[in-house]
Amino acid sequence: MDIEEFRKAGYRAVDRICDYYASLSERPVLAQVKPGYLTSALPHEAPQKGESMDVIANDFQTLILPGITHWQHPSFFAYFPSNATFPGMLADIYASSVTNPGFNWMCSPACTELESVVMDWAANLLGLSSSFHVASGVGGGAIQSSASDSALVAVIAARARFLIAHPDVPAEKLVIYLSTQTHSLGTKTAAILNIPFRALPVMPEDAFSLRGDRLRDAYEEDRNAGKWPFVLIATVGSTSSGAVDALEELGPITKDFPDFWLHVDAAWAGVSFSCPEYREQGRLKEINAFADSCCVNFHKWGLVNFDASTLWLRDRRHLTEALDVSPYYLRNKHSDEGTLQFRDNFSSDFPSRLQFFYYILELIGTVIDYRHWQVALGRRFRSIKLWFVLRSYGVEGFQNHIRKCVRLGTLFHDLLSTSSIFEVVTPRSLALTVFRLIIPDAGADASSPPPASLARPIDLQTLNELNMELHHRLTEGSGPGGEDDKLFLTRTDLNGKVCIRLVVGAERTQEEHVQRAFDILCKVGKVLLNDVTP
Ligand code: PLP
Repeated sequence: MDIEEFRKAGYRAVDRICDYYASLSERPVLAQVKPGYLTSALPHEAPQKGESMDVIANDFQTLILPGITHWQHPSFFAYFPSNATFPGMLADIYASSVTNPGFNWMCSPACTELESVVMDWAANLLGLSSSFHVASGVGGGAIQSSASDSALVAVIAARARFLIAHPDVPAEKLVIYLSTQTHSLGTKTAAILNIPFRALPVMPEDAFSLRGDRLRDAYEEDRNAGKWPFVLIATVGSTSSGAVDALEELGPITKDFPDFWLHVDAAWAGVSFSCPEYREQGRLKEINAFADSCCVNFHKWGLVNFDASTLWLRDRRHLTEALDVSPYYLRNKHSDEGTLQFRDNFSSDFPSRLQFFYYILELIGTVIDYRHWQVALGRRFRSIKLWFVLRSYGVEGFQNHIRKCVRLGTLFHDLLSTSSIFEVVTPRSLALTVFRLIIPDAGADASSPPPASLARPIDLQTLNELNMELHHRLTEGSGPGGEDDKLFLTRTDLNGKVCIRLVVGAERTQEEHVQRAFDILCKVGKVLLNDVTP
């Protein structure tokens, strides 16, 4: 493909993308295909001779698009959102156009320096303490591919710090702490590093957040057994219910334990810190006071196309020294000058501090090499997406997106609270509501307030089966309105209770989409109750 062919194909691609977005709300959210549909439609080998871009792009329209579940659809309420925006897409194109692996500063100085700048912009946007800023010279952040990568490298840093401070502790005595609500990234990290983990229990009466006494009791028990817990992966905004661990209790306790690391996974909820009114419920003050590392996924609810998981560390040396593997072929003059360390002791005027930081780096010839902050050597030019998005939306546009989603999530929660056939299972968390279908009091209609107690005692298993069936009918479109009653939501299990989650997060969602989701739920739920109750 030559430059002129690329120009034409590129214009055509943008046209098609625009048409896709213009028709998005008329498409079904869920892909309407059966397993194996694509495998059987594609040849078993790559073509011997190259094909024209028109043919390839047509196949995208006819073969790939039907198999896409539309996460940008205004009625997408499942999982957590995975925002894509036009500025983010353009940034991806520009980043691809200069593809380079960016692992050392000199591989492409712009990749490294832009990342340092936008990580500090993002830290400022979220209200993170200046000790997490790159410009502090001690802390700093890097963009990882996922919250799972972020947790993995945070635990690697935690282990390095602990074992350097306690060289006599055998590695097999180490333990990672999670809660039963920690995302599966916790157990995966433990599996990858071959370190045992302990999932601390949480209680429904604490809205599934981890409390301080659980941590202290477990720590004492493990120490008495000769084990060495060295890190807690705490969560702000858990996947199942949006629970926020009690960092005001956990934070001070972690400081009582020797060289114990606190990592905070705020993958979904962290972007809400951009709005000062959500900082207290997300325990930002405690993150700033106690966390050693903190992760926020801008690629979830933060308007940046996948992938952009921002990870901040209070002292980056623990990570960069643990992962600094520098064979001769990776070394260069700039990297060899050594790591610069200076404390956070100059002007608090943010932009000039960062400029000053780079001025000093330039003077002494040393640089940040982001390969020491991650598992892989090569890395994508992700910072350009964050840069485009933050500049294009501005802080106000970013805040408007978050506030709109929380407002619509609250609308759904309030609608549901007026119904007698549903109960809200945990307190609403930002734009997430977790609920389940119940058997209402005899005589109550679906729009009356929820009953104080169920009319007939009903066992947990029956209620669970009822909710699994409701979820099935919504997903399959087997409600009274068929395809029109399809709704893509995710299920979860909270201490044995099967629940359904609805989270608002897509950029195009409006009030009408939330109202429609509620109407479908009521319709399908009522028919189901009629089917199962005599
Ligand atoms: N942490 C939380 C709280 C999540 O909800 C999720 C995914 O939904 C993750 C981590 C995993 O994120 P990633 O896919 O970036 O690893």
